Amino acid sequence: MNTLKLTNGVTMPQLGFGVWQVPDEEATSVVAEALQAGYRSIDTAAAYGNESGVGAAIAQSDVDRDELFVTTKLWNSEHGHDSALRAFDESMKKLGLDVLDLYLIHWPTPARDLYVDTWKAFVRLQEEGRVRAIGVSNFQPAHLRRLADETGVVPAVNQIELHPYFQQGELRAFHAEHGILTEAWSPLGQGGELLKDPVVAEIAERHGRSAAQVVLRWHVQLGNVVIPKSVTPSRIRENIAVFDFELSDTEVAALSTLDRGGRIGPNPDELN
Ligand code: NAD
Repeated sequence: MNTLKLTNGVTMPQLGFGVWQVPDEEATSVVAEALQAGYRSIDTAAAYGNESGVGAAIAQSDVDRDELFVTTKLWNSEHGHDSALRAFDESMKKLGLDVLDLYLIHWPTPARDLYVDTWKAFVRLQEEGRVRAIGVSNFQPAHLRRLADETGVVPAVNQIELHPYFQQGELRAFHAEHGILTEAWSPLGQGGELLKDPVVAEIAERHGRSAAQVVLRWHVQLGNVVIPKSVTPSRIRENIAVFDFELSDTEVAALSTLDRGGRIGPNPDELN
């Protein structure tokens, strides 16, 4: 498994396991399956309602805690300094952890105008050693700039919608300029049309790999962190087996022509 270094020196597996839409009661067995397949990074969120199930899988696993990288996220209704601290405690209780690896603000919710206060609470949690790294999700350049300007602390990670049909070139360039790691959510485009795209299929055929593996490999070669989700054991295994082949520069370039500029998910400037 490749790892990437965050600006504060913490290392993060480049590929992790996403658990959005996995019901709490299924999360324990699904995460156990992922850990067995070799995943060492799990991406959950308070809003997914499955932190307890994820926590149970971690507690039951024989993988050492220091080999695991656990991410959770603060939900929109909990913005604000004090509510963020309370929400963090609640998440940690459910996860059954003393220290979290990465805490993210799930959405900026700009109309609430509280993300700077929320971020100050995150900085405090990091200073207190309760979180190893802090970041954001779905932040646009203007939101990122405001955090840096008003607190002096740049997020280590921005987790954003990103796949070959929505490549976020401008935001990725902004990240590169400011040392922010790009983490791709819905890296497979939620398993829709993208996995049937003829360009993807042709490259997959050439390598004897699946379309999902080709898309994940494209992310890896761009330097993105990816967190594909599946509840199907064979796909869970398939999605992590992307570190033993390489796309040529021409193939990466061909996939990079697929951008359609349209999101699957909400626009972060509008979601509140
Ligand atoms: P994804 O791109 O990972 O696609 C998952 C879907 O693709 C699966 O449900 C399945 O239908 C299909 N699939 C998975 N593996 C496959 C394979 N090998 N072959 C064929 N089809 C396959 O979509 P996602 O779940 O939306 O995103 C991944 C993770 O990103 C989530 O679980 C969550 O952790 C995170 N996420 C974060 C945000 C955010 O706002 N921060 C938003 C959405 C998702």
